[in-house]
Amino acid sequence: DGEAVTADMVPELAVQSFPLCMRNMQDTLKGSKHLKHEGRMQYGLFLKLLMDVDLRRIQGIGLSVEEALAFWRKSFSSITDDKFNKEYRYNIRHNYGLEGSRKNYTPKSCTAIITGPVPGPGQSHGCPFRHHSEQALTSLLHSTLGSTMTNADLKEILAATKTGHYHVACTRVFELQHAKLPGGESVPKGEGLGGGDSVDHPNRYFDASRKVIR
Ligand code: SF4
Repeated sequence: DGEAVTADMVPELAVQSFPLCMRNMQDTLKGSKHLKHEGRMQYGLFLKLLMDVDLRRIQGIGLSVEEALAFWRKSFSSITDDKFNKEYRYNIRHNYGLEGSRKNYTPKSCTAIITGPVPGPGQSHGCPFRHHSEQALTSLLHSTLGSTMTNADLKEILAATKTGHYHVACTRVFELQHAKLPGGESVPKGEGLGGGDSVDHPNRYFDASRKVIR
């Protein structure tokens, strides 16, 4: 049997396998102990799929709304249980189709994120390639990729971003994130998510990453 994703695994998975948009929200959550509504929606649905997934077989194994609640409770560490239960519990359960209209929401695709609501000050949702300043994107790239990214790589990623080819930039980041893995596995330039596929969904990015790392 495979291993279900638990709340405690999220920080490490974020470093290993999340695309920049989700990494950005995990970093914000770690730093500010909070995420605004739109971010909770985008990140919560992304995590929902991870938490539904058996990491080895990439198949649904049923809902883990309890793990999601544990994750958000832990992340919003500066508020009381009472405030958490009053203000956030309902929305998290709602994402799982357990409240209100009981709609089973699916995680957003790159297109939905890129053309969706533009993040305002203090908000961390969206796609960093589309919504970050060049400076903020550069610093997120440095903190995500470290010394694996050369100046030439950075230039290439910024050039693709400037011309609106966000999926090209994101795919190049995927390759670099998996270029020098501790286990010796390596994704070469041009391989993308596998067979040259480019990124079109944050959860596909994650799934492709787990296939390489495992
Ligand atoms: Fe996230 Fe898609 Fe943007 Fe990559 S291209 S950062 S997966 S929204």
